[in-house]
Amino acid sequence: MTLSRLFRDPVGVLSEALMTRGVRLILYAILTAALFPSSRFILLISLMMVLAFLWTSNYRRSGSPKVFYLAGFLGILVVGYVFASLDVRRADELRLSKSPWGSGILLVQNGVYTGEGQGYRGPIVVQVEVRNHRIVGIKTLEYPDLISVQDNQLAAFKRDILLKGKLERPIQPQMFRGATQTLTGYVNAIDTALSRGIPEFPQYSMFSTVFLNAFLGKTPDRVTLNALAILFAAFMVFEYALQSMLVPGTGRSINCYNCASCVGACPIKEVEGVQMPMGLILLTRLGDYDRVMELSKYCVGCGRCAAKCPIGNSGPLVISAAFQAARKQKREKLLTEKGDAA
Ligand code: SF4
Ligand code: SF4
Repeated sequence: MTLSRLFRDPVGVLSEALMTRGVRLILYAILTAALFPSSRFILLISLMMVLAFLWTSNYRRSGSPKVFYLAGFLGILVVGYVFASLDVRRADELRLSKSPWGSGILLVQNGVYTGEGQGYRGPIVVQVEVRNHRIVGIKTLEYPDLISVQDNQLAAFKRDILLKGKLERPIQPQMFRGATQTLTGYVNAIDTALSRGIPEFPQYSMFSTVFLNAFLGKTPDRVTLNALAILFAAFMVFEYALQSMLVPGTGRSINCYNCASCVGACPIKEVEGVQMPMGLILLTRLGDYDRVMELSKYCVGCGRCAAKCPIGNSGPLVISAAFQAARKQKREKLLTEKGDAA
């Protein structure tokens, strides 16, 4: 595909790209990362593992260089991560002398500040008011943990801070049974808010902030993990259902219950680690027509599988469908190349 074709026919190029599972996978991952920012690290690792697997097989089969691009991208990520980590460590060391805890409240200027911390079920957001170097008000703006840690438990905790007018160590969140993460998130939210009231509080560089936020995000919370599990299941169902629409020319052979009745009836049963003919059907579903064509020589065409299959699949049927689909793909590729050359 050339750039000129992309400008000439962007819709065609896009729909062609969507036929590739790798491209769809990247698209799903970007959408999920945008919806659930704390899932970014898990998504990035999963996506890279899947692409490494897919593209290594492509490289072995057709010499496609995509896996080297992926390795290059991974190298850039590692270098970026090292830079960002060093910057974060430097800023954290400087922050130690400007901490708003204890007598550090004297550094905080009068004002109302907002801060976030990570609770058990999601981000906790608070608004802290400081007057004459004392905390005089704490307003909870976001508190998704309410279902597990009651507001009155938090209220007692808050009262204690307001009485002292500052954050004081040791805070013992473990006193509240099962609420450690919530109360730690709450205290971190207050800490972040107070830090915003300290002039020249050491900040992370723009690069570290953008890099860590874009590629790693925050620690995934419970809601995100649950959402990821549901989305993964939806993705599998969607991809499975979509396959018969996206791989034209394969006819009925594309459907299969994986019941293995055909394998029981087949005199060949298994060749080169592929169960006959059930494995051929799976390979066709995955679009690996070349492998189906390679294995087709083992089928003796006896038709016993067709007699057993509840939906009428058979080795010869799927082999012929795979040959047709492969021919169609090659023809389309040739036409595209000719179009690009013109
Ligand atoms: S037609 Fe081919 S796949 Fe089907 S039972 Fe006979 S040998 Fe096995
Ligand atoms: S008998 Fe039919 S449905 Fe069952 S595994 Fe074989 S091809 Fe699939």
